[in-house]
Amino acid sequence: MPRRHPRSVKDAPVAGKRVLVRADLNVPLDDGRVADDTRIRASVPTLDFLLDEGAEEVVVCSHLGRPKGKDPAFSMKPVEARLRELLPGAAIRVLENTRFNPGETKNDPGFARELADDLDLFVNDAFGSAHRAHASTVGVAELLPAYAGLLLERELEELGKLLGEVERPFVLISGGAKVEDKLGVLEKLGGKADHVLVGGKMAEQIRDENPLTFEVDLPTDVVAASEFAEDAESKVVPYDALPEGWLGLDIGPDTRESFARAITRAKTVFWNGPMGVFEWPRFAAGTKAVAEAVAGADAHTVVGGADSIRALTEMGLVDEVDWASTGGGASLELLEGKELPGVEAIPE
Ligand code: ADP
Ligand code: MG
Repeated sequence: MPRRHPRSVKDAPVAGKRVLVRADLNVPLDDGRVADDTRIRASVPTLDFLLDEGAEEVVVCSHLGRPKGKDPAFSMKPVEARLRELLPGAAIRVLENTRFNPGETKNDPGFARELADDLDLFVNDAFGSAHRAHASTVGVAELLPAYAGLLLERELEELGKLLGEVERPFVLISGGAKVEDKLGVLEKLGGKADHVLVGGKMAEQIRDENPLTFEVDLPTDVVAASEFAEDAESKVVPYDALPEGWLGLDIGPDTRESFARAITRAKTVFWNGPMGVFEWPRFAAGTKAVAEAVAGADAHTVVGGADSIRALTEMGLVDEVDWASTGGGASLELLEGKELPGVEAIPE
């Protein structure tokens, strides 16, 4: 299937124009403060580009969280403050949370017209929202000449590479907790990978019933805990000998070593999902071992998933991978081979 190349903001007649940018500024907040500004930083290059090219006005919009109507807890104000620190003195206008308007998620033409009002061009840079047909991703693209932003383009390119011919060995690593979301990607890419390493809750879920039709490397040992708690009693047990009522909360030392060995030999790596409950230090070793192996591999390395990237960032390794996707659900849908409505809405 040939991949779509939406037209680029680099080819847009920007000078003197009023431009609406749909960015992905959907960041985690903690007590009204930005807890992780990765997505805000990732949206800066496109805004910089537009300002450099002489756009008359740059209006930025995004959704933030899942508010039910107007809710000050989901205001864009803290996000805007961070963006202004990153772009000091820039002539940008940041709109309030698009999801404050019920028309956003319904792709309501009235709300799309409101967003597009008085503006000349639309740049969609919100890869993380491209899998949703909303007013700010699809509706406006039908009203204004639409272009892909730099981040959106790069995401399509980096993730798209994994769907084409890849250098081998190709190692796919899957873990994390959102098992249902990730099975689609495993099914799509797993058959093509030379090794599929499975950890995290994913490995727990398929211990008794494995729906996958190709061979995967499951853990040989796990760190078992008597309950789901940071200070739970714990011990290393064989994967197939988890005591009744216990939970596997990390891959064990043998698995860490064999997974790291496979990753070190890889030429292409895609990692999505932590190997254990890495937020708790006693169950973080598996994720750390995989993160270090991916960071150190002499391979093209791509990581997807907010928590996997948070783990890499906390370990100071995020700059050691070739691409850390901001996409979350959109990355997964793209890698499953689905069309992304936000991308489809931009002419080629
Ligand atoms: P990502 O955001 O990278 O796509 P997920 O959101 O699917 O990953 O999963 C991340 C979460 O998975 C982490 O919060 C981690 O604590 C949890 N997790 C990993 N392994 C296990 C496990 N064995 N049991 C329960 N939770 C797990
Ligand atoms: Mg997650």
